[in-house]
Amino acid sequence: MRIGILALQGAFAEHGHVLDKLGVEHFEIRQQKDLERPFDGLILPGGESTVMGKLLEESGMLERIRKRIEDGMPVFGTCAGLILLAREVEENPSWFGTMRIQVKRNAYGRQLGSFYTEQEFKGIGKIPMAFIRAPYIADVYEDTEVLAVVNGKIVAARQKNQLVTAFHPEVTEDTRVHEYFLNMVTNQ
Ligand code: GLN
Repeated sequence: MRIGILALQGAFAEHGHVLDKLGVEHFEIRQQKDLERPFDGLILPGGESTVMGKLLEESGMLERIRKRIEDGMPVFGTCAGLILLAREVEENPSWFGTMRIQVKRNAYGRQLGSFYTEQEFKGIGKIPMAFIRAPYIADVYEDTEVLAVVNGKIVAARQKNQLVTAFHPEVTEDTRVHEYFLNMVTNQ
């Protein structure tokens, strides 16, 4: 198995460290030609979704990656990565728009911009969750399954080959959300 990690901006290196820990091969995707290399799943990291979205568009990768997601390639979006996948982003443009969720950016207000908690994740159990100027999922549609809720807000969801978390599993020591994603890749 080999995982591509979008590395245009943001917290991509941390995802690489988790995959190293799990002994999974990975490489960084920075430009069109990187998409020629074979990979079985893609991670979209946290960062700034508007910056990443524009870079994806300018580099011509937005369309190509969207096509692969629509064709069933497993994808895991954390924080800004979640925003990139959402079909509807409140008061903002959508980017890939492949996942039937509605998202609110920077949703926790200034004081609560960053916080840490431990909550249930469906199918895993209690896990640490680090939120950094995080979005939340205001609503899910179609066959999207809610996987975690914090303070009444949806913070993790899955629709077929797409997995998203509003929090950052790559900055905690717990590797179980990444393992959940790797299972999706194995069973695709
Ligand atoms: N606030 C960022 C955005 O709207 C997301 C923050 C993050 O990825 N840690 O894109």
